[in-house]
Amino acid sequence: MMGDAVNETLYGRLGVPVIVNAKGAATRLSGGVLHPEVTAAMAEANAACVDMIDLHAAAAAEIAAATGAENGLATSGAAASLLLATAACMAGLDPAAMARLPDARGLKREIVTIRSQRNAYDHALRGAGARLVEVGLADRFAGAGIRDAEAWELEAAIGPKTAAVLWVANAKARPPLAEVVATAHRHDVPVIVDAAAELPPAAKLRAYIAAGADLVAFSGGKGLGGPQASGILCGRHELVMSAALQMLDLDLRWGDFDPPPSFIDKALLPGLPRNGIGRPCKADKGAIAGLLTALRRFLAESDAERTARWQAPLDHIRAELADLPLRLVEGGIPRLELQLADAAAADRLYRLLLAHRPVIHVDHGELDAGRLHIAPNCLAPGDAERIVEALATHWPRERRP
Ligand SMILES: *Cc1c(COP(=O)(O)O)cnc(C)c1O
Repeated sequence: MMGDAVNETLYGRLGVPVIVNAKGAATRLSGGVLHPEVTAAMAEANAACVDMIDLHAAAAAEIAAATGAENGLATSGAAASLLLATAACMAGLDPAAMARLPDARGLKREIVTIRSQRNAYDHALRGAGARLVEVGLADRFAGAGIRDAEAWELEAAIGPKTAAVLWVANAKARPPLAEVVATAHRHDVPVIVDAAAELPPAAKLRAYIAAGADLVAFSGGKGLGGPQASGILCGRHELVMSAALQMLDLDLRWGDFDPPPSFIDKALLPGLPRNGIGRPCKADKGAIAGLLTALRRFLAESDAERTARWQAPLDHIRAELADLPLRLVEGGIPRLELQLADAAAADRLYRLLLAHRPVIHVDHGELDAGRLHIAPNCLAPGDAERIVEALATHWPRERRP
């Protein structure tokens, strides 16, 4: 009976186990579970054909309205948005430069980055042909002091080859964005903000643009609740336009190219570039429809309503396991913190949850401190119960208070 039921599902037929994703919207765990309205929009979009420039222009208008930016682009993810942002800052509106990337000889190709903000996603910037120039010393993270990169260091690193300054949004990021923007703009250098994982709160959709950022990248598949491979790039009209020109399929005659100028202003171009460096960043019509639907749902729900919705399964787990040291950690996305005796105990429980059926993935980013975390935003219906059962089975009894 059970076997038959399993074989009636797509993942069952493929022999791919369905997991409980209590880690959050990680790419390696397939992101989250999409709301039925989002999947319905994706299916509807995929049932008809459109001119992709029309769809992208409509998406641009919605993204601009949601972010307060002049222009917007739907991409295949925040990393794609970062690659396109870099390519836009390097090539501007010059189709010959677009055609050459990632060969950046003769172009402004340096992206000034703050050493303490370096992360795995800067591959996306290098992929466009940029060179990263690091500034600052993260003494406060090394335990050697209290300081981090400062605006004067940024200023010293900006020169004639600087294409942009990158700022990775995070509550701990230094220098503050206002100082970075003021410094970069003094030299007419644009600021790219990586805000991939900063939603919610919803106010962040507008905050970086309002603070003067020239280009901002958001993930569609994280807090926004869109398709896993979707993202937003928003910002200044001509930079987003350059990004779009380096991503879109423009295999058409110049005379037949007629985009709305609010998205791509043909009057600013000498001709049409061919498939550019951003071609692998393309979002398909289903992903765009899913992203825009998720964006509308995100804006329609208040932060308080969203938090309450996410907190409900965490409250349920806590109520069912009242004898365990589970603590609610508030923040953009609330989490349940499981405090174990030490790192070894946390590692044991982590591995027992991975050996459980269904497999339970929790966040083990603070395992060294003996802590595991449960995130609510990627749980499917019934997952809270599965987590209760797994924790009741595997939590070390001798450690219970
Ligand atoms: C997740 C993340 C990205 C990549 O986002 P995708 O939408 O998965 O491409 C980039 N930068 C930061 C800081 C992130 O957290």
